[in-house]
Amino acid sequence: MKLLCDEMLKRLGRWLRAAGYDTVLDEDGTTDRELIERAQREGRWLITRDAKLMEYRHARQTVVLLLANSVEDCALELRHKLAIDWLYRPFSRCLECNATLVVAAAQEDLARVPREALARGTEVFRCSGCQRLYWQGSHVRRMRAKLEKWAKISEMPKSL
Ligand SMILES: [Zn+2]
Repeated sequence: MKLLCDEMLKRLGRWLRAAGYDTVLDEDGTTDRELIERAQREGRWLITRDAKLMEYRHARQTVVLLLANSVEDCALELRHKLAIDWLYRPFSRCLECNATLVVAAAQEDLARVPREALARGTEVFRCSGCQRLYWQGSHVRRMRAKLEKWAKISEMPKSL
């Protein structure tokens, strides 16, 4: 499943990448029509909070309208509307550019990782697009804990 988040939902889009979903974020200034056409051309679900987008032809096959406000409520709403599995492939994609991560073994990569992380035997990954490095630090651990929480909750958010 491939996704496209409109500009209001960039934070949610980064979480979708963290869960492993191929997620493109809208660049500022794209028109509604361009957004829908891109989603259709690339076979992506367009995720939005903008009800206007539902008025386009064939919107129901392309657009997922979210009613929730907070990132967490949107995450739970997406579980219901698209059966998103928040533990699909955690940390297999770059949060910044959406490219897939590969195991980093080269000396010049490992030299950029803190010694104490390497001493713990943590695995290091490199983005195949922007070359950013990822490893199991406290930030990744906190994000994973949140993904695990979202994957477990089955009720719709109370605000909806
Ligand atoms: Zn990247």
